[in-house]
Amino acid sequence: MELDLDNFNVLPHPDYRSGIAALIGRANVGKSTLLNHILQEKVSIISPVAQTTRNVIRGIWSEERGQLVFLDTPGIHKAKYELGKVMNRTARSSMSGADLSLLILDASTRPREEDEGWMRRIIPTQTPCIIALNKCDEEASFEDDYREMWEAVSAEKGIEHVCPWFSISALTGDGVPALLDCLFTSVPIGPPLFPEEMLTDFPKKLNIADIIREKLFANLKDELPHAIAVVVDSMDETDERISIECEIYVNKPSQKGIVIGNKGRLLKKVERQARDELAGIYEKTVVLRLWVKVEKDWAKNHWILKKLGHA
Ligand code: GDP
Ligand code: MG
Repeated sequence: MELDLDNFNVLPHPDYRSGIAALIGRANVGKSTLLNHILQEKVSIISPVAQTTRNVIRGIWSEERGQLVFLDTPGIHKAKYELGKVMNRTARSSMSGADLSLLILDASTRPREEDEGWMRRIIPTQTPCIIALNKCDEEASFEDDYREMWEAVSAEKGIEHVCPWFSISALTGDGVPALLDCLFTSVPIGPPLFPEEMLTDFPKKLNIADIIREKLFANLKDELPHAIAVVVDSMDETDERISIECEIYVNKPSQKGIVIGNKGRLLKKVERQARDELAGIYEKTVVLRLWVKVEKDWAKNHWILKKLGHA
């Protein structure tokens, strides 16, 4: 796509703000639900199966006040001895590239070790942090326990990291406008990070890739290859129909077999399920072609990262 770089660096108005927010928190606290609520579109996977989201741009919210780019972190579901390592890596990669961290806590359940793990990684950084106590629509509230945990970690580290706390419900939307206000005042004044004309296509491609990924996860369950990427290669849209070519990347030929399934049945099923859901969302005929490609170390492959919006 040709970008109009002359207009790209221009502030739409003097107080226009833009920035990147890393959504942090353990699995099932409501990160995806919150994003979907803000973006009003199904862009992120909401699934009872943990670890369905990669650390990628999950959505871009553009409005009069500015533009917020959200990075979602994967739902972490790891053996205990590996968890720390994964959290370190996630914290480093998502927080270093972000203007702020948005730590989501599930106020309806007691704090867990993993919540403390995230606090331990956030408190020593200089990255601004906003805390959202989610699920405030539920009767039980462990807000005090979370605040005590934060204080205890701060005291132990001897570091004060002051950040605003919000009570929200990603489900009902309660408290979300106040959180958004805070997000906008916390990012710097600056031009949009993604040009508006790019947004029309980009979130839709992410959305389509996510729905396909969701169907893959649902059908593969335990057989799921550890590394898998879904990239919408091309999209051709008219008033009545969308034609989509999509590539699924795996690391090894054996994984390709798993994804395709016996006589191609699994892939066909994924194709069918994704097509039906997309047809419902976009209210158009959907023509979907899925290709499985073996690309060793696809995560290091620059052009794929570029398509995913990483580079
Ligand atoms: P993630 O793993 O952090 O992305 O969590 P999800 O967004 O997938 O949500 C996990 C579960 O919590 C889902 O069943 C959601 O419906 C539920 N959930 C998310 N936000 C809220 C909320 O504000 N209130 C209630 N009651 N449930 C919520
Ligand atoms: Mg999620």
